[in-house]
Amino acid sequence: MEQYDIAVIGSGPGGYVAAIRSAQLGYKTVIIEKYDSLGGTCTNVGCIPTKALLDSTHHYAEAHHKFQEHGIKLDQIELDFSQMYKRKAEVVSKNTGGLDFLMNKNKITRLKGTASFVNNTTLKITNEAESIHITAQNYIVATGSKPSTIPGVEIDKKRIITSTEALSLNEKPKSMVIIGGGVIGVEMASIFNRIGTQVTILEYADHLIAAMDHDLGKNLQKILKKEGIDIRLNHAVYKTESSDSEAKVFFKDKNGAEDQLEAEHILVAVGRSPYTKGLGLENTEVQTDERGFIKVNENNQTSVSHIYAIGDVIGGAMLAHKAEEEGVLVAETINGQKRHIHYSRIPSVVYTWPEVASVGYSEEYLKKNNIPYNVGKFPFSASARARASMDMDGFAKVLVDPKYGEVLGVHIIGARAADLIAQGVIAQEYEVTAEDMFRISYAHPTYSETLKEAYLIASGQGAVNI
Ligand code: FAD
Ligand code: NAD
Repeated sequence: MEQYDIAVIGSGPGGYVAAIRSAQLGYKTVIIEKYDSLGGTCTNVGCIPTKALLDSTHHYAEAHHKFQEHGIKLDQIELDFSQMYKRKAEVVSKNTGGLDFLMNKNKITRLKGTASFVNNTTLKITNEAESIHITAQNYIVATGSKPSTIPGVEIDKKRIITSTEALSLNEKPKSMVIIGGGVIGVEMASIFNRIGTQVTILEYADHLIAAMDHDLGKNLQKILKKEGIDIRLNHAVYKTESSDSEAKVFFKDKNGAEDQLEAEHILVAVGRSPYTKGLGLENTEVQTDERGFIKVNENNQTSVSHIYAIGDVIGGAMLAHKAEEEGVLVAETINGQKRHIHYSRIPSVVYTWPEVASVGYSEEYLKKNNIPYNVGKFPFSASARARASMDMDGFAKVLVDPKYGEVLGVHIIGARAADLIAQGVIAQEYEVTAEDMFRISYAHPTYSETLKEAYLIASGQGAVNI
């Protein structure tokens, strides 16, 4: 039986980063993945393909709605749906190819098959051809998550689908109802609405992207509504039905009034559940919580000290970069290093247009916990850069401690917010003040100046720029 120092189960962003860092630290490392391609949810059916389609459809929408004002006339703008999906597939395959290269470069053994614990120390790996056993001194479980559903809603993968099936459609749907106005809901709504699908979002909460600062969801709602998406908040879905050609969704508003809609597809985006099926946890002493997430301590150790777990399978923010941080933490912890992750400083991004990005505490959190704060908010409509590019929707908002000026939260909705948020992460990670942030130089004209102005306002000074 082959013996390894570290065996990583699952090759998503948690697993592949953990394997690479383990190999860099000199450990004999194996990575086990049940699918042919590496990269997990993020690379194959998550972050990467959605961003490829969001970019393509953004170009298409710009060509329709903005080019003329920029002085660009096109005779005919036509959607080639299959080419759009083909390009998306090529982007995915370039990324999975990059991961193959990195595994070889770092001399990581790659095994294809489903990994299942036989006991606390031995793993069985089964594929179509064979079944083998291996042992490792340390295991890192990074098996990720799968889409959840709600009672009364059965995902048939044809009419009632998840984001995974939406990423491999053969033709543009005429209509789509999306259950859930969270991150997947609004990203998928943007993709399909931009290419002419009639999109409705049914959301149980009274905000879109309700986990983020509520100002962001409110503003996003206005923008998406203006673009033609039918958004119904305070609506709870309780049942769906499907036939060969269409699907129906049944829901209630907050007063209990019932209604229903028909659509070509109903896309279920109500969250994701930990994936531990077939992993054989029942043969170990690893514990899970009531929702099935693997329980870990601050070093990501499970109740069996040499079995670690990271990423979506342990819960918390289901984000690729959170899984990656945990992958590095575990490899370095095994190596005897002392590491710590500040979870409140992990940014969240929604890739609508404009983008939405957040790090730190929301205004709702500060209010609820009686933490005093000052707000600095600056609109993109007052930014010279935003006016030049015609991207004037949104704002930058900073929440600052009134006494010492410490940056408590940064929330942006606006062009390139996904990239701008890195600055907010640095501000919080190094505990600098709002004054530190407005005294540094910002290139003019840039979207980043909206943050400088927000820091100035939060510090009691007026804005200085346009
Ligand atoms: P996963 O990426 O889920 O990988 C787990 C891997 O383990 C899979 O490949 C699976 O096949 C394998 N596996 C499972 N069980 C076994 C077993 N027993 N044996 C062998 N292999 C096994 N996050 C962001 O940060 N940014 C985004 O833009 C973003 N966009 C997203 C868009 C969509 C549509 C979705 C669904 C998710 C998105 N996410 C995004 C979330 C992100 O994809 C996840 O947080 C991330 O993939 C979690 O990484 P992971 O390594 O924990 O697990
Ligand atoms: P989510 O938790 O963000 O949103 C689910 C939404 O569904 C919630 O707003 C909830 O109120 C609503 N809902 C639940 N039951 C309902 C019902 N019966 N009727 C109507 N609405 C209902 O989950 P998601 O959008 O499925 O995304 C899953 C995970 O994937 C998230 O944790 C997210 O972090 C990750 N993800 C991240 C990105 C990104 O980083 N850009 C993109 C996509 C997905």
